[in-house]
Amino acid sequence: MGHQACQPTEGATVDGVSTLVEALRQRLPADRLIIDPDVTATYAHDEAEWAPHVPPAAVVRARSAEDVQQVVLICLDAGVPVVTRGAGTGLSGGANAVDGCVVVSLEAMDAILRIDELERCAVVQPGVVNDHLRAAAAEKGLWYPPDPASSPWSTIGAMSPPMPAACVA
Ligand SMILES: Cc1cc2nc3c(=O)[nH]c(=O)nc-3n(C[C@H](O)[C@H](O)[C@H](O)COP(=O)(O)OP(=O)(O)OC[C@H]3O[C@@H](n4cnc5c(N)ncnc54)[C@H](O)[C@@H]3O)c2cc1C
Repeated sequence: MGHQACQPTEGATVDGVSTLVEALRQRLPADRLIIDPDVTATYAHDEAEWAPHVPPAAVVRARSAEDVQQVVLICLDAGVPVVTRGAGTGLSGGANAVDGCVVVSLEAMDAILRIDELERCAVVQPGVVNDHLRAAAAEKGLWYPPDPASSPWSTIGAMSPPMPAACVA
């Protein structure tokens, strides 16, 4: 059985940006999309300013899983890279924007949906700040252990792959 190698995606070209932005505008609620260059520039890099970065073609401040799905579908169709961003405290440039990309900021998806004391499981959105989850768990007599020095700002979504301490909705 053969397999296809993953091709690197290229960012939207100057002509492609307006088509991309129009597609995002049509399929997302109005308050999600940011294209003001003064604002998109603030999403160009995380704390690794030394690493390569450029202003993204657009920023989407997602508020739901459906918002994220729409962005991914549109960018897949357009061959445009998507860069996911939590609080942007990363030190290795993982959230740095690449040429012509769309940055999806998950900061506004910050709801703690459920903490199950019996199962010791929290169901949260990916933008929940680590310290906020720790405080909510403590109210139930539970301990949320991940404790980076950035925990007052950093989000669980950026930590969840190596640390399955919670279910991210
Ligand atoms: C003062 C300071 C102290 C720090 N202390 C520590 C420490 O003690 N230990 C430590 O390990 N790190 C530390 N860091 C680094 C950083 O805070 C952590 O890596 C943190 O987990 C990043 O969280 P974030 O929400 O800021 O993620 P971001 O910087 O926004 O993103 C980090 C990476 O995760 C990806 N990502 C973000 N959200 C999601 C998601 N929902 N789904 C999939 N991928 C996602 C991004 O694309 C990027 O690659 C520190 C940073 C600072 C500035």
